[in-house]
Amino acid sequence: MFSHLIGNDEVKDSLRRLLATGRTTGSLLFTGEQGVGKKLFALELAKAFNCRNRTVGNNRTKDQSPKSKDQTLDACDECSSCKRIGRSAFAPFGKDDDDKSRLIWSEHMDVAMARPYKNIIRVPVMRELESEANFRPFEGATRVFIIEDADYMNDQAANALLKTLEEPPPTTHLILTTSNPMALLPTIRSRCQVIRFAPIPHEQIEKFLIDKEAMPTADGKLLARTSRGSLGRALATDIESYRERREAMLAVLTALALTGDRTRLLRSAEDLAAAKDRDSYEQQLDVLESLIRDAWSLALGRPKEMLVNSDLLKPLQSIAAELTSKKAMSWLSQIEELRGALEVNLNRRIASDALFVSMAMA
Ligand SMILES: [Zn+2]
Repeated sequence: MFSHLIGNDEVKDSLRRLLATGRTTGSLLFTGEQGVGKKLFALELAKAFNCRNRTVGNNRTKDQSPKSKDQTLDACDECSSCKRIGRSAFAPFGKDDDDKSRLIWSEHMDVAMARPYKNIIRVPVMRELESEANFRPFEGATRVFIIEDADYMNDQAANALLKTLEEPPPTTHLILTTSNPMALLPTIRSRCQVIRFAPIPHEQIEKFLIDKEAMPTADGKLLARTSRGSLGRALATDIESYRERREAMLAVLTALALTGDRTRLLRSAEDLAAAKDRDSYEQQLDVLESLIRDAWSLALGRPKEMLVNSDLLKPLQSIAAELTSKKAMSWLSQIEELRGALEVNLNRRIASDALFVSMAMA
């Protein structure tokens, strides 16, 4: 079970144990960065709860070998229930969806999801969940409700959910996912069993991208190393535009470290500020940071295998030759300061100019 999902072997073990003992509490809270597989694991669990070919953990005899134990826990991936739950893509809300404050049902009548619309999960969807959670399963053994990005519930929604969490029927499971557990009400956290997801090692992401996604080796390597442990992020990144952004940021770094070309820096600041939204602006800063870290790592004599941008070895080496730790640290902290300032509404054009000018003086 979970065998086609990469990373988080410890999570796989605890979920298997949970299924084996049959002691699944009503509610689970999956925490971890975006894109590490929380939703996919939740769906896998929903499959296992409802698979028509699976023997429930409790029914096993004690002397079964570990292998057969595993087999009884597996969702078969072949029965109609497994197949339909597996097909649940839960596509993002489209423009024409008429009601965005409702549960989104999978093709299976017992598996549904709630997710934020415009960054809020509102109370009607939690009320719907509350009433649906009280029904016995329609076609499977267990009703499973996934609440994606549960930290986006507003207070009313969270309070409505608390009622369901207090006394979930034994045939209902709630799985909350979040990358920001501290933003949840403590009363919600304390009513769930917390399962922590770790970033996925970049070697595993690389292997997945190259073997399963048939990506060219160089692209897979680069995306895996820039993904910071998130397969979702790697898959969502457009490699061509990523390379363009990186080229632009390498020019900034070269101007800062080698040529001192102020005109170039101000032009780059202008380009940076033209980013279409805050997310893409911050992605540019991510790229700049990763280049600085790489050059710094070379300056410190660390092995080149550790570089994120290992395909840019030559230019990074030239920059590293001129780079002191003091300067690298100062650059990184100036970027971090700007990120903090982005929390308040600030003029990105002015901020970008100021950043590059002050980095040039570091
Ligand atoms: Zn099955």
